[in-house]
Amino acid sequence: MVSLFSLPNRLKLLVVKKRVTLTFPKRYIQMPIAYRLAKDFNVAANIIRAQIAPNQVGKMVLELLGDIDQLEAALDWMRSQEIQISLTSREISIDEEVCVHCGLCTGVCPTEALTLEPSTFKLNFVRSRCVVCEQCIPTCPVQAISTNL
Ligand code: SF4
Ligand code: SF4
Repeated sequence: MVSLFSLPNRLKLLVVKKRVTLTFPKRYIQMPIAYRLAKDFNVAANIIRAQIAPNQVGKMVLELLGDIDQLEAALDWMRSQEIQISLTSREISIDEEVCVHCGLCTGVCPTEALTLEPSTFKLNFVRSRCVVCEQCIPTCPVQAISTNL
C-alpha cells in the first residue's frame, strides 16, 4: 500500500472545504452543476440551499470539498460559464430578543466568545473570538443562536 506521505509532492492532495454562493443566468438553470463538479474536477458539492425557478436567475449555496487545486479549477470553470461566485463566510448571531441569559452556551464555547457579564449576569458575545464551531447552537434551550448559512 502506498502511503500519502510517501507520494512525490506533485501527487499529494490538500483537501479543503469551501462554501460558495452561486448566481446563475437563467439559461444555465438546468445545468447539473454538482454532477459536472464531481465528474470533471473530483469536487464533491453538497447543496445547502437552492432557489431556482424557471425563467429566473438561480441562486445556490454549495459546500465544496476537494483538492485545493481542483477546487480552484472548478471555480475558474464556473466563472467561465458566467456563473457569479461569492465565497461566503459563516457567522454566529444571537437573537437578543429571545435570549434568556441562562448561560448554558458559555459552558461549551471553546474560545470564551460567549461569557456572562459578572456584574449583570447578561450574555456577552465577542464576535472576534468566535471560530464558528457551532457547538453553542444546540445547547440553547430557546433557539436564540443561529448561523447566517
Ligand atoms: S460558534 Fe463556537 S466559538 Fe462561536 S460562540 Fe459558539 S461555541 Fe463559541
Ligand atoms: S444558551 Fe441561549 S438563552 Fe442561554 S445565554 Fe446562551 S443564547 Fe442566551
